[in-house]
Amino acid sequence: MKNFTATIDEIYEQHKELIQQVVQQIHSKPELSEEEVFACQLQVELLESLQFDVETNYKGLPTAFNGVFGKGRPNICFMSEYDALPGIGHGCGHNLITGVALGAGILLKELMVKHNVEGQVTIMGTPAEEKRGCKIDLIKAGALDDVDIVLMAHPSDHPTSQSMEEAGIMQFLVSFKGRTAHAAAGPEKGLNALDAVRLLFNGVDAWRQQLPETCRVHGVIKEGGNAPNIIPDYSLADFYLRDFDMEFLESMKKRFKNIAKGAALMTDTEVLIEEVKNSYKPGKPNDALNQEFMKLSEEYGMHPQWAEPSRASSDFGDVTYEVPAMHAFFNITGEDDIVVIHSKEFTQCAGSTFAQEQMAKTSKILSQIAYQFLSDNQFQKQVITAFPFGSL
Ligand SMILES: [Zn+2]
Repeated sequence: MKNFTATIDEIYEQHKELIQQVVQQIHSKPELSEEEVFACQLQVELLESLQFDVETNYKGLPTAFNGVFGKGRPNICFMSEYDALPGIGHGCGHNLITGVALGAGILLKELMVKHNVEGQVTIMGTPAEEKRGCKIDLIKAGALDDVDIVLMAHPSDHPTSQSMEEAGIMQFLVSFKGRTAHAAAGPEKGLNALDAVRLLFNGVDAWRQQLPETCRVHGVIKEGGNAPNIIPDYSLADFYLRDFDMEFLESMKKRFKNIAKGAALMTDTEVLIEEVKNSYKPGKPNDALNQEFMKLSEEYGMHPQWAEPSRASSDFGDVTYEVPAMHAFFNITGEDDIVVIHSKEFTQCAGSTFAQEQMAKTSKILSQIAYQFLSDNQFQKQVITAFPFGSL
């Protein structure tokens, strides 16, 4: 084992600089969901220089790619994300997810060559996690049909932890259309779209008391009129619904739509309810992969702690229904317990030396788990048995 980790360290050192450069360049030039042209290009260039066979515009998504080395099965897929947040850049640290995917993929490739192990390494570039969730488009287009397991790791403001259960999510844009009128001289001629959106929020608040603890419903008003002396003829709200149970989430969607329709009825306005992004399924992690991650991250001195289920959501949730999958978390905030994810401070952490060190350790751990899946039949069996959605 000691020799094995020494080999991994040695291989990583050879590629460290190039990987770090890609990660830092993506950090300094943040791109929003589905606009990740530069980030995509950097990864494609690096992988091509290392003899990966790379398909760009993967499954018709301009900023997705698929880099493959080797052939046949098992096929281990490392997923990369690289989209940033509006206004704060890499406040979710997706530049480091890129780094882990590249590091782990390159390490596994070199280990397979060195030890003459059969199989395939895939590094899949998956755009727009923050917005539309392109993993779902990729799954629908068959991107995981020939994949055996998927491994990914996300930076965190919490202690390093396993891939936890995560909530599913649906997003709705609700708009109301009324009629403008002079708010003082002729209000009786108007139909107030702002009233409709206020009643939508009141309806949601009344509903909230009857919702189980596991749910989240949260929204903002994006448009609500132009001036106090004009009855607003248009309003727009943006809402997220979340729960751990997909069936319950469907029932929430039905109620939410009824509340919106009720608000329109009360104000004689017209309502339009749009489901804007792919809904994300609740993430169901693989226990065998998790156990191995926790064991190895302890050995790497990352002080991991088992985490409670998270009410956050990711399009990785859908991946966990397709194949055994792991979306682990690695801490990048160190001793600092004030910095939270999705903040400018977290953006700074995502560009730090400490984050690069944690990213390097995580890459090594993921490559080790993957290598074990390829070379240890018993572990492979455990992982497949732990898949919660029937036979593969
Ligand atoms: Zn994220």
